[in-house]
Formats: sequence, structure tokens, C-alpha cells
Amino acid sequence: MRIVAVREKSVPLQERISNAYIDFSAMTVSVVAVVTDAVVDGRPVVGHGFNSNGRYAASGLLRERFIPRLLRAAPSELLDGSGANIDPLRARDVLMRDEKPGGHAERTVAVAVLDMALWDIVAKIERRPLYALLAERYRRAPADADVAVYAAGGYYAPGKDRRALQDELGRYLALGYTAVKMKIGGAPLDEDRRRIEAALDVVHEGAALAVDANGRFDEPTALAYADALAPYGLRWYEEPGDPLDFALSAAVAERYHSPLATGENLFSLQDARNLIRYAGLRADRDILQFDPALAYGLVEYLRIVEMIEAHGWSRRRLVPHGGHLFALHIAAGLGLGGNESYPDVFRPFGGFADDIPVSGGRVRPPDVPGIGHETKADLYQVLRDVTGDV
Ligand code: MG
Repeated sequence: MRIVAVREKSVPLQERISNAYIDFSAMTVSVVAVVTDAVVDGRPVVGHGFNSNGRYAASGLLRERFIPRLLRAAPSELLDGSGANIDPLRARDVLMRDEKPGGHAERTVAVAVLDMALWDIVAKIERRPLYALLAERYRRAPADADVAVYAAGGYYAPGKDRRALQDELGRYLALGYTAVKMKIGGAPLDEDRRRIEAALDVVHEGAALAVDANGRFDEPTALAYADALAPYGLRWYEEPGDPLDFALSAAVAERYHSPLATGENLFSLQDARNLIRYAGLRADRDILQFDPALAYGLVEYLRIVEMIEAHGWSRRRLVPHGGHLFALHIAAGLGLGGNESYPDVFRPFGGFADDIPVSGGRVRPPDVPGIGHETKADLYQVLRDVTGDV
């Protein structure tokens, strides 16, 4: 088999929401369709990939470097031993040819988008859902039947008051979620405290509410928030300071005894390893949120799982950022601790299969070959548009 075409398009997100750091209204996503000459059930196999929210489309890099490398490679450089399917680990070596070490974030989105599409192809040719394939290859245990998810929302938006925040979080509970997350750091501490107390009135217990500062705080502010949050016993306190400020993280971990969460803005094995080594995080409670759809893809994620386990961490402490189907399969297949979910925002890229509801705070990945983008009508419409005629 071989790859016959790769199509890419930058698609606008157009969300009128903000966190403590950015406004999402101008954000874009790279969508790719990787077309192969493999045929399953009479149709050519096409794999789809897109990047997670929080980083912009990587169209230039994809078109100038990564897509040409994939198309120029000899088929034998990309295939597994059978010659009938892609080997994403070998494809990763092809994509990273002539790339220097370090400086990861410049290119990790571009590689991640293609990696997602390649895994979609692999599972489609195997005629299995991706989660089942991953459990067999990388876990040697059955996949988890479903995955714990939490509803990430609670953004700042023009005119959104505490009552609107409560209505939003109540809607998530009604949808079947048992845990929610809200933004902090976009308002003064006293106002955030009132927002958190308003949210607790809805979710009733600290363990059901996580808060996310999106890396906004300097160390004194991060510590002031830590002291203010401590009495609530929250599910976790996410990204208090700059994601690469490991000394700040260690200072917060020293002072704040409830769980911390971070990692969504670390895009490589090397950065993840430095986090584990130097950020003072605690393997018995803290949450690691590396996002395979931003950070070089699943090939890199498998290496990160191996690395954290070598440092004495359980993979159940991994709860990927991003709320996409790809991470849901990875969580079920590899046996992670859960997955993010965006019931209200980042459509159509966030969210899971249309016909599989969240129940008791858990959700299943779809049982169709590949990642199952086809089970999400609004997403599939965008992907089909990028694919064009095949
Ligand atoms: Mg976050």
C-alpha cells in the first residue's frame, strides 16, 4: 500500500470565549486527510487528523516540510513488516528527518496532526477501533470499557455572571457528568473566590470541581491562590504558573497539599521528563495532561507513558487535555486515568460519538474501525470537506 495524497486545510474555531490568558475567537485548527490506495469494503482508506485547541493551524509547516516528507518517502519506509499497513513509529522517523533536537513546540502540532491521521488509517485497515488495537499492542490487557471524563468549561465571556456560570455547570451535571472544571485567573482573586463558591453551590463538593489558571500567575499570585483554594478540597488546581516554570510549580506543590494538574503545554518527551524530574509534582495525587494532538502524536505519547512509569508514576495519573476522540481511544486502550471533555465549546473538534452519551461521568469510544470521526456528524462534515473527492 502507499499514501497517494495528503490534503490540509486551516479551519477557524470562532469561539467567543477566553481563559486567563487568551481569547479564542481567532484560533484555527489544521485538518488533514491522508488518502491511501488501500481498499476496505470497496472504498479507499482515508485517515483524518486535526490539532487540539490552544495552538493554531500549522499549515505552512505541513505544506513545506512534513507533508512533502511523507509523500517523498519510499512506501517501504512507512510500512510494517506485513507491507499491508502503516507503521506509525517508522513514519515518525520519516517525518522528523532533518529536524534538530530541542525547539519542539515549533513543529509538534504539525507532526501530531499527521500522526492522528496515520493511526486512523492503521486501525481502519485492521478493521478495529483504535482503542482495541492499542490495548492489544501496548497494554497486553483488555481495554477499559469506558473512560472517566470531566466537563471543562467555566470560561470567561462578555456579560457572563455567576448565575450564568452556575447554569452552565448545572447543564453539565444534567448531561451525565459528575465532575466539572472552570477557569480562574481572569478576574481578581476575590471575584474568583465568589465564582468558585457559586460553582460549589451547584456541584456540592470540592472533589467534583477543578480550577484552571492557564499558566497566568507569577509565584506570589500562584501561592496566594493556593492558600485561598486549599480549604475547598478541589479536584485539582491546574497550571498555576508558566508551564515551563518548574521552580514555581515546586513552590506551589510544597505549599498546596491537594492535587495539582499540568502538562497540556509541554509538547515533547524531554519537556515531560523535566516536569517529572524538577517540578515537585507528587506521583500519589497530581495529574499529567499531555495532549497527543498537540505534542507530536501518539508515538510520542507512548514514550511519555513509558517514561513516567520508569519514574514510579502510574499511567492512571494521565488525563489528556483536549476533549477529542483520539485521546478518548488512547485513554481506554492504554488504561489512563480519564480524559477531558468540552460539552459546550471547541465544536466540532471536541466531543465524542453522537450516539454515545456520558453516563455517571464516564463515556465509551465508538466501536467502529479507526478513530470513529465518522460517528460525529458535525466533525465528519468538516473532514469530508477537506478530503474532497477520492
Ligand atoms: Mg488547562
